[in-house]
Amino acid sequence: MNYLELRVPNQALQCMALLSRMPRNHPVRPIIEKDLRSWMKGYYGEKQVEYYLSLLPEEPYYIFHGLRIKDKKYFQMDLLILTMNFGLIVEIKNISGRICFKKGSNSVTRVYENNEEGISNPIEQVKRHKMQFHNWLSKNQIKGYPIEHLVTFSKTSTLIETTPDNTQIFKYIIYGESLITKIKELEMKYPNPHLSKKKLIHLTDALLQAHQPLMLDILQTYNLSFTELYPGVQCPKCKNFHVNYYSGNWHCSYCNHTSKNAHLPAVDDFLLIHQTITRKQFSEFLRIPSSRIAGNLLRALNLPSTGSKRTTQYYLPPGCILSPLKENDMKKGEIYT
Ligand SMILES: [Zn+2]
Repeated sequence: MNYLELRVPNQALQCMALLSRMPRNHPVRPIIEKDLRSWMKGYYGEKQVEYYLSLLPEEPYYIFHGLRIKDKKYFQMDLLILTMNFGLIVEIKNISGRICFKKGSNSVTRVYENNEEGISNPIEQVKRHKMQFHNWLSKNQIKGYPIEHLVTFSKTSTLIETTPDNTQIFKYIIYGESLITKIKELEMKYPNPHLSKKKLIHLTDALLQAHQPLMLDILQTYNLSFTELYPGVQCPKCKNFHVNYYSGNWHCSYCNHTSKNAHLPAVDDFLLIHQTITRKQFSEFLRIPSSRIAGNLLRALNLPSTGSKRTTQYYLPPGCILSPLKENDMKKGEIYT
């Protein structure tokens, strides 16, 4: 059963928020577009693997996508599967081309369209996550629970190569379509339960409590200033920013489209970029002249908040946005590019 569902990563949502509010000819745009494509590629790789996992029965698997917890430093596992008998950490890679693992240096190169580049070794990455997860478990009084690790390439068209003296790496590398077979093999390897169901549920709750999705300081990441972005509500139909609020609706002065909820993506954009919003920022960013109306609209969103009265700061619940992307609206990694 999915305890933490797969979501479009915050970093991709943050890039989309920036791109929807930046001039077409902004010099940083191509860099953000490239990063967005890369985040979305990773997401679609995980989505493919999620499909295979959906074929498993609900029990006895406790599945977490993108769990990010803290040992000494934060670490994020693409996929964590827990059962009473063992745990499995999976690093998912959606990479095109030929991937070569070299024995002596432990380095990995990727060859694609006649270009060769060094990439970070995904086996070392997942081994680090395993060590960090072990530490986290022992701090939480769970000792000796077996943890396995795997690197999964989502596409069977990715060619994986190594030298004949290094073939043991294939114990830890599989294609997404073999994941279920691998899980069944691990079930044979660990026939006895290590945790009771009650303890496993307790562990699941503790992991969800500890989960901290990453939210970058996205303006600093791209060295941008908030004033470089268009403020205002975007027309859901013609994407223009000439939208005003009156008589309980948002009205686009370009295409005459009216909408009750056109402000939701704007609030998401602000919060993805800025993390918190006050009533003053809300009314300025959405260009609502009446602070009473702004206050009413903001309160109606039922966002969690800290502080009181004028200093109240509202934020998005972790891992949630007000206006989720529709799967149909997303082309593979090509949004806003
Ligand atoms: Zn319009």
